[in-house]
Amino acid sequence: MKLYKIKKSKIDNIGLYANKDIKDRTKIIEYKGKIITKKQVEDDPKFDNEKAIYLFNINKKYDLDGDFKYNTARLINHSCDPNCEVYGTGLKVWVYAIRNIKKGEELTYDYGFGYDEHYKDFPCKCGSKKCVGYIVREGSRWRIKVQK
Ligand SMILES: [Zn+2]
Repeated sequence: MKLYKIKKSKIDNIGLYANKDIKDRTKIIEYKGKIITKKQVEDDPKFDNEKAIYLFNINKKYDLDGDFKYNTARLINHSCDPNCEVYGTGLKVWVYAIRNIKKGEELTYDYGFGYDEHYKDFPCKCGSKKCVGYIVREGSRWRIKVQK
């Protein structure tokens, strides 16, 4: 049985939800895509935006472009208080639980957007107590709080 299912989300259109209780550190779903070189990323205008949210750093030489329909994991929404994390092992990228997740909870991770002058273009509707209202990575959220 799959650990997740696709469902309507309050955060953004649709999302992935836990289909059963998931223990901390469980590999939930592979973040599928195409391995490309950093050079290809530099040369392709598709990745011009710093916030190419489906692009993951694999190592010094390679990135993974997950911007494909078959990559179900791309439906996972951002949250300011996420229950998952995405990281690579070898040339594969996986979504892992970072705490115990209850059946029916929406799966989320921190999109890791940097703080810049465009941050207001990416509002966050995660609804968590920690929400700062915009999609900005955890380490930079204090900047937004200061501005309030
Ligand atoms: Zn939020």
